[in-house]
Amino acid sequence: MAKREIAWDLSEMFPSTTDPSVQKAIDDLTKMAENFVARYKGKIKSLSAKELLKCFRYLEEYLAKLDSIATFSYLSFMANMTLPDTQLLRDKVNKTKAELDKMLAFFNIEIGNLVYGNPNIVDEQILLNYRHFLERLRREVPHQLSEAEEKLTIEKDQFGIRAWEELQGKWLNTRVFEVELEGKKKALSFTEAFGLYFHPDRATRESATKSIYGLLGKDGEIFSSALRNIFNDWLNVCERRKYGSPMEASLIANDVDQETINNLLKTVRNHTDLYQRYMKLKAKIMGLPKLAGHDFRAPIPDAPSAKFDYDKARDLIIHAYSRFDEDYAFAVKDMFAKNHIDSTPRLGKAHGAFSWDWYEGKSAFILNNFNEALLNVYTLAHELGHATHTYYYERSQTILNYGTVQGTDCRFPMIIGEAGSIFGELLLTDLLLSQSKSNQERKAIICTVLDGASVFIFQITSGALFERSLYDAIKRGEFLDYKTICRYWVEARTEINGDAVDFLGEAEAAWIPVPHFYMPNYRFYNYPYTYAQLFVYALYEKYLEEGKEFVPKFKRALSAGCSISPVEIGKIVGLDVTGAHFWELGLKQYERFVEELEKIVS
Ligand SMILES: [Zn+2]
Repeated sequence: MAKREIAWDLSEMFPSTTDPSVQKAIDDLTKMAENFVARYKGKIKSLSAKELLKCFRYLEEYLAKLDSIATFSYLSFMANMTLPDTQLLRDKVNKTKAELDKMLAFFNIEIGNLVYGNPNIVDEQILLNYRHFLERLRREVPHQLSEAEEKLTIEKDQFGIRAWEELQGKWLNTRVFEVELEGKKKALSFTEAFGLYFHPDRATRESATKSIYGLLGKDGEIFSSALRNIFNDWLNVCERRKYGSPMEASLIANDVDQETINNLLKTVRNHTDLYQRYMKLKAKIMGLPKLAGHDFRAPIPDAPSAKFDYDKARDLIIHAYSRFDEDYAFAVKDMFAKNHIDSTPRLGKAHGAFSWDWYEGKSAFILNNFNEALLNVYTLAHELGHATHTYYYERSQTILNYGTVQGTDCRFPMIIGEAGSIFGELLLTDLLLSQSKSNQERKAIICTVLDGASVFIFQITSGALFERSLYDAIKRGEFLDYKTICRYWVEARTEINGDAVDFLGEAEAAWIPVPHFYMPNYRFYNYPYTYAQLFVYALYEKYLEEGKEFVPKFKRALSAGCSISPVEIGKIVGLDVTGAHFWELGLKQYERFVEELEKIVS
């Protein structure tokens, strides 16, 4: 019997991509933007607090409408990219949005100047709801250029520094990788070959590693040209925009301070022994004298091949969330009941998984590719944690404090955006461990969790150290050729892995396929993942310590959206993220998993 298709229902937003109501929504939106320009362009600096409040409310009305049409066109496209109607709509909405963004670009600049010139306005009682939004804008103002310079920068970047990123992506996607897949020669695309890191056969994983990094390394000088230009460009940008360090822009975007991140990186560097303990343990489980880099994501041998059909996964996740608190599962249940989840893999559908907010509907949509494996259940629990977070802040915040606003600079700091999702994974882990019937099962669950956590806490920190060392090298006047960049990559990798892991010679080129390193004006993508993971692990420690008392505080923290800073959000649940030793609390949770695994293995 064919399995039923689990596809989301987008008709709550619009009946179909070709329905006349879609065009009407686009027209209405354009009129709203024109009205906004007529009313406010050039006038924001002289607005009183009361008038400013009116301006914000009008903008929020507009943003909510924009969110709905953008969400509808984007999700229609992601579910099936091959349909001409969805392609057409996506193109139309993207162009409209780009036009409207340009029309409204004055808002951020003018409002920034207003709060910079009149800092007291931030404290006006009537604007209390927007205080943190304004504070964040104020932090950006000193780094803004004039309107003409900003426009010129965007124009020159588009076909200048941004071209490297395109080139890297094109290179990866047009090459063929020769891999021995279970002893048979295969010609694979980059995505296919890279996916073999999860393959149970070690020789296959090794062959994929040699093939990918061998081929990439041959063009190492080309990629180092790209990287050298992007990193040097960023140092120029930092000077022009008066950033104190190459990291400062990312600190502002993440609403965090340098000292907290220094503490974070230092704590991880001081506890690499913990990570190496797991690496040695995993080697033992796999019957190897030592783990290799290509064993990081390998499934453990004889893992129970339990299949989770979709209904079983749904029941498990609802159960896991309800065990924490009955009411906490309301979003998960609503997401299933409303068919807001698209789970069946299909031709033309996007890879991977994400949760997408829908403000006007006070809901979200989840895309994933469900194949009945344990890892898929985790992914679904993760995305449903994002949706739960969304449900809380959508019900408490206006759209400017809500985080995922398109067309403004007020973005959800990533460091806090994983609070619900990683917490959901931990709830699932607790449930699965309590239900597991054998040590073999428990081993598979804990390894799945630790493999993921090791990437986000330790392996990604190695990327942050690498990135920092390249800026330092440029500042010292070093020339970053291929071998030099590889040397810094290996140094950072060794600092984290010590002698607990062996790497193939080819793997010195492992920095080449990381797309984030080539994204201009978006630096240090890495440490926010570590912050997010360890923050949530610390939250979980709090929960284990306080039990049910923790629940209402956690809900309040999730409801805050980005109306307050991550530091303040920590305070709601009694955590001081600025403390020098704070991050050790999160590592305790990681250590608990390692200890449990040690007990099973010994
Ligand atoms: Zn996530």
